[in-house]
Amino acid sequence: MENTELRNKVREIVNEAEKELEIQFKEVDEICEFNSEKILTAFQKNRVVEADFGSSTGYGYGDIGREKIEKVFSDIFHAEDCIVRGQFISGTHALTVALFAFLRPGDTMLSINGKPYDTLDEVIGIEENASSLKSFGVNYEQVNLIEDDFDYEAIQEKLKTTKVKLIEIQRSKGYDLRKSISLSKVEKVIKKIREVDQEVIIMIDNCYCELVGKKEPLEVGADIVVGSLIKNLGGGIAPNGAYIAGRKDLVKLAAERLTVPGEGKGVGPTLGINRSFLQGLFLAPSVVKASVKTAILTSKVMEKLGYKVEPKYDAERVDIVQTIEFGDREKLIKYCQGIQTGSPIDSDSLPEPCKTPGYLDQIIMASGSFTQGSSIELSCDGPLRAPFVGFQQGALTYEYGKLGLIKAIEYLLK
Ligand SMILES: *Cc1c(COP(=O)(O)O)cnc(C)c1O
Repeated sequence: MENTELRNKVREIVNEAEKELEIQFKEVDEICEFNSEKILTAFQKNRVVEADFGSSTGYGYGDIGREKIEKVFSDIFHAEDCIVRGQFISGTHALTVALFAFLRPGDTMLSINGKPYDTLDEVIGIEENASSLKSFGVNYEQVNLIEDDFDYEAIQEKLKTTKVKLIEIQRSKGYDLRKSISLSKVEKVIKKIREVDQEVIIMIDNCYCELVGKKEPLEVGADIVVGSLIKNLGGGIAPNGAYIAGRKDLVKLAAERLTVPGEGKGVGPTLGINRSFLQGLFLAPSVVKASVKTAILTSKVMEKLGYKVEPKYDAERVDIVQTIEFGDREKLIKYCQGIQTGSPIDSDSLPEPCKTPGYLDQIIMASGSFTQGSSIELSCDGPLRAPFVGFQQGALTYEYGKLGLIKAIEYLLK
């Protein structure tokens, strides 16, 4: 087929699919309005003023904007306290800081959704590393999911027989083929945990899940929640950073691990980042909305084209991730290359599979983003292993997401 002919054909398929998504899109709009009001209220209640855009250098003592940001985030999460910093390199770094802050030699950490995200393998010591938690004498155990739900009985049994210091729950699927975990399941499992153990720290890896629904994990009983600002809450504006929110004593421990025992949250220069954090948060509900709509459209279209997708277009959304099973190495690569070619930045380069630090398999990553590695911007990646699944997420606007999808399908069919 001629290029323009193919493009028109793909555009037609996508437009047809879009017409069938009215009900789903309306629901996403409604959640966006709810979350926008939540954020606007937090800005107003905490009296965010222009002076909060100010910057600090050096030690970063007395940075009122930084303190304001942390109050705003605390309100949004219903948290006693939180730490939101550009000194966190990424979500993995914040998770690492949290784990090293809460766990001591001889303690046991338990993951209850099978193995955690790939980049935590060396942090925990599932893969050998001389700096892992394991190297400090921290034990790791896991309970696997059954049929995409928690193994409630096995978790209770484990807690009755083993003293566990910290339970980690990762809601989004990472590079697993399972479903992401809804907040109602998290709520249920927390109740079951508390029936047998009132002390264990319940920590949530909340990456990709913020603002997708109306509630956040602390509202259903979690102790601490961790996520990245180059995902949902950065709104595509934050240039880096991450957050840890929840119980005050735990946030203090995390702050003293990130900075210095005795100094904690009191230090950390913001170097001009405050305005971006605030503006990113302000836009986050809309950007998450664009991402979720792009994911729903992708699900509908790719299913029509015969691919296995997760979630389906009409399923409840827990995060912004859409998986597409290509069943073929070349097709996964082509689709990712199409996403890259459809991006605003680096559209003239083609991603190739390669070794990436923190991941065991070769990975292909398409991300033509304004912020390096930002996956709230349209991006698609996946490990080069059967059944060759692409993990797509993000879109700063729905229109750009849709255009990216059209380009990816064009590439796939060419
Ligand atoms: C993205 C992600 C992380 C953190 O990844 P970074 O790239 O380090 O920000 C952790 N857990 C899950 C489930 C994720 O999706």
